[in-house]
Amino acid sequence: MIKTLGVMGGTFNPIHYGHLMAAQEAMIEFHLGEILFIPNQVPPHRQSEGYIISGHHRLIMACLAISSNPYFKASTLELERPEVSYTVDTIRELKKIYGETEISFITGADSLIKYDWHNIGELLDLLTYFIVATRPGFSLSNLDQKIREMKLANAHKIKPLQIPNVDISSTEIRRRLKMGKPVKYLVPEAVENYIYKNKLYI
Ligand code: ATP
Ligand code: MG
Repeated sequence: MIKTLGVMGGTFNPIHYGHLMAAQEAMIEFHLGEILFIPNQVPPHRQSEGYIISGHHRLIMACLAISSNPYFKASTLELERPEVSYTVDTIRELKKIYGETEISFITGADSLIKYDWHNIGELLDLLTYFIVATRPGFSLSNLDQKIREMKLANAHKIKPLQIPNVDISSTEIRRRLKMGKPVKYLVPEAVENYIYKNKLYI
């Protein structure tokens, strides 16, 4: 069993270089042995945000994107569950599977700032670190302010991580595809080919 695991959750609709950069930077900075990418079931409140394709396609694209990195793995843990999972439930489940392995969660600054995290206190108890990667448009000071406002007993486990700015989002990728614009260099080539072959997001 590895000693330290990083978990990167997301919709990955589709996965892109921003996700890979955040995972890679967190892995190096926090000495994580492996990163597990876990595509999520889509929560009902997000289905109105745009076209969300099946978990099957999102998972395959995640596998294609990480295939060249032996430290990156993908997991079907959340997709296999019948209902939308909270991160805290997923991490509790992983703690059972991984035993003594220390688990850290990786997210982008927008996710911490914009969303209310279910049972964040318990989530932080379970985690070694809750790593929050910077993202264009979300400043470190906004992030610090949000962390203070949350008034958490174990806020010290939340670790902002400055990463090279990657101004890419799945929303923008979907928008470009819909308009027939290229997504080359926004996603790994294998993901790009998969999108075209399966006529996704058009
Ligand atoms: P969408 O536009 O559909 O919301 P997204 O690009 O935000 O897609 P998600 O699947 O929502 O991608 O993100 C998964 C995780 O990766 C989130 O924690 C998000 O904050 C983080 N993330 C996504 N893109 C970046 C980026 N460019 N830089 C840093 N973190 C990112
Ligand atoms: Mg997002």
